[in-house]
Amino acid sequence: MKRDYTPARKNLVATTLPLSGSTLILRAVTRIRILCITGVGRTGSTLIDRVLGSAPGVVAVGESRALWVRLRGRNSFCGCGEPQHDCGWWTAALGAAFPGQEIDFDTEIARERRLMSPKSVARLIAGGRWLRPLREDLRAYGELRARLYGAILEQEGARAIVDSTKFPLYALLLARSGKFDVRALHLVRDSRAVGYARTKLRANPKVTDAATTQMRVGVTTMAWRWTAYNALAEVSGRRTAPYLRVRYEDFVAEPARWTARVLAFAGIEASVPGIEAAVVPMARHHVVGSNPVAREASGLVRIVADTAWLREFPRRSKVVTTILTAPGLLQYRYPLRPRQPRP
Ligand SMILES: [Zn+2]
Repeated sequence: MKRDYTPARKNLVATTLPLSGSTLILRAVTRIRILCITGVGRTGSTLIDRVLGSAPGVVAVGESRALWVRLRGRNSFCGCGEPQHDCGWWTAALGAAFPGQEIDFDTEIARERRLMSPKSVARLIAGGRWLRPLREDLRAYGELRARLYGAILEQEGARAIVDSTKFPLYALLLARSGKFDVRALHLVRDSRAVGYARTKLRANPKVTDAATTQMRVGVTTMAWRWTAYNALAEVSGRRTAPYLRVRYEDFVAEPARWTARVLAFAGIEASVPGIEAAVVPMARHHVVGSNPVAREASGLVRIVADTAWLREFPRRSKVVTTILTAPGLLQYRYPLRPRQPRP
């Protein structure tokens, strides 16, 4: 499936220059700074993405790795509330990034699949000469993304992107493409909270009537995924980019302190309005995918810890998750027997 991107804004088109028969966005000449939130899903990353994206000069884009899939599927909403394929913000960015060109979504999705095969991932982690067979795919992958993110920075007059894709291999791919200044923010959350969030049914509005709930995943699968994704986030993050690990629970307990620390880690001199009082005035963010509740909240958004899992995650599920993820829980300093909140 292809989509034609005709320039939407002339002033953005003017920032491109001819280069060997193609075009190159000026900003893409320098490496684009991107803070990649890595780890497993349901860690509160959408909220943190949007808090960081409320700092001047920073743009929150949500799980932008999935953009081609979302545009091809025509079945999901952007954080602004519009169907993804109708969002004017993304249409303008795509038009500026790929003036008069078509993106073949199927080709790009297949390219990413090749780069994420187990053999390719081993090469990506090893780096150096092991990257040689992947060179062409990495170049094409990085260039497409660099043009898109460059156009977004231009559009917003911003200096850095925050992406909450989480899937650790995305940060790895961007880092290995050589076109990005990637900072890996490994977000960790208690495995029982993640298990509860992932195993409960949650309304997930879609453009069509099909699939009105997010996919539900079993307790055992989620425990395995929590361990594997966190391990991969740590290995790939430490090997390929400046790496910072933050616990969701620490962030929401002291949002001002952790926001300042993360922004400093990303090399961004800015602060988030309202963060000292843990109440952030949020504009609409055009975040892709992400938690359907957190992505669309706007106005004054209060940052509070979500502890529903302590009361509502069934005891048996809690025990199974604790046993299966015990090494990671201890590594990340979580108690094996969490305290019940007082009624
Ligand atoms: Zn939008």
